Amino acid sequence: MKFFNIILIFILYIFSNPVFSANKFNLIPIEVSKNVYVFLGDIDDVNNNNGGAISNTGFIIGDNCIIVIDAGPSYLYASNVIEIINSYSNLPIKYLVVTHHHADHSFGISRYLEMNTEIIMAEAEAKRYLKYGNRSLRQLHNLIGEEWLLNTEINTFNNLRKKYPINLDLGNRNITIELFEEGHSDGDLIIKDISSNILFVGDLVFNQRAPTSPHANIYNWKNYLDEIMNKDWDYLIPGHGNIIKNKEDILQTKKWINFIDKTAKQASKNGVSALEIFNKGLPQIIKKYKLGKETWYRDLPILINKYEFD
Ligand SMILES: [Zn+2]
Repeated sequence: MKFFNIILIFILYIFSNPVFSANKFNLIPIEVSKNVYVFLGDIDDVNNNNGGAISNTGFIIGDNCIIVIDAGPSYLYASNVIEIINSYSNLPIKYLVVTHHHADHSFGISRYLEMNTEIIMAEAEAKRYLKYGNRSLRQLHNLIGEEWLLNTEINTFNNLRKKYPINLDLGNRNITIELFEEGHSDGDLIIKDISSNILFVGDLVFNQRAPTSPHANIYNWKNYLDEIMNKDWDYLIPGHGNIIKNKEDILQTKKWINFIDKTAKQASKNGVSALEIFNKGLPQIIKKYKLGKETWYRDLPILINKYEFD
């Protein structure tokens, strides 16, 4: 009888939490090409089940060293990622590229600083990380609790590289890093692995879910999306959502930012408030996106406000 009770408790435990067990990330890297891996983030918003792990993280293994793309939301997440990488290769993690300062991409930095990893981040974004990091960390604490964020700190670091593009050699494997200023953020980094022809574009591209735009310059962002579409790549790794093979999938991001931008500009021109727009109901286009409603309610007032002061 006791045995069956144990089995029952075990089954209940597994099924009550199919993806994430208590304070543990279920991280399984997908091999996109030989020695190029991606951990896909949860498609939901930040919550107590996913521990904030909503964005994608990548790693690329060369003959001499490894590069990681994005630090993830916490010290715990970064520790998990590093543990898995170490089980694939015992080469050193020489570089961490942080595509931009948003918490879900940058808060794992504190874990990488314990190793000899060089952190590469656009200067403007490193400044924002330091300036606003502790405030975002407090907000994240309130949202998901302290345990997910154990040891997560906002730390200063030597951001040595000022000039872009950056060329790195991981050992028979060349990487280029380009800076796209004032797009989704003040400085988004795009990472290209030359031999596999894979592009990591951070939050310049969202797949399936609604793009977020609290710090965006939408005019530039649209141009950058055209540029990304015209680039030569076989696979594109967005900041959120599945790996992209078809260029048309980038249009989802473009359509969203076009729509929210047009709505906000018209509203500020005609003196219409966000509330008045919300009262008219959710536009059809918004409903097509995962987290469309939440993102619409959060980002439209920010954008209207921005254009009122422009
Ligand atoms: Zn972002």
